[in-house]
Amino acid sequence: MSPCPESQEGYGHWDDWVDGPDDPMCNLCGLSCVLGLPSPARGPHGLLDAQVIGGYESTPGNGCGAVDDMTRYTFNLCEFCLDWLFERFKVPVKTDDPMNDYMLREGESVAEGVERMGVVRVMGHCDKPAWRPATQRVFDDEWRRDKQEFYAERDKRKAARGCI
Ligand SMILES: [Zn+2]
Repeated sequence: MSPCPESQEGYGHWDDWVDGPDDPMCNLCGLSCVLGLPSPARGPHGLLDAQVIGGYESTPGNGCGAVDDMTRYTFNLCEFCLDWLFERFKVPVKTDDPMNDYMLREGESVAEGVERMGVVRVMGHCDKPAWRPATQRVFDDEWRRDKQEFYAERDKRKAARGCI
């Protein structure tokens, strides 16, 4: 898979995504990060091109961390492996609606908000339920469709991760 011809670089634009050998691969399970049935929603999903860079103080054995100085580590994690990691967090991952970032300021008109942010949230602040594992959400929520496809993809990636 590769970005469509109009894209500039990377995975930021994937309308009309075409499968190819350059698909972003999940570093944990080794499978493609491209998810979805053929549709406009099909494309890379997850933590893509994530990077961490060590510092002088963090170099293992010569500092107090585990990431080497002046070394950039780049990786991808598919959504299934992210969910697997979230489940193991001692501190639960936070959830919220990203549109909460587009609330109007006190006294600001919609036109002023659009001018400032490009888009506004007009329905008021939206809370999200606390995080639950994807398997639990699919099991609990009757409105979710394609449950069998979810279970099949989850099991495929679990098997690909091997013993973990
Ligand atoms: Zn994965």
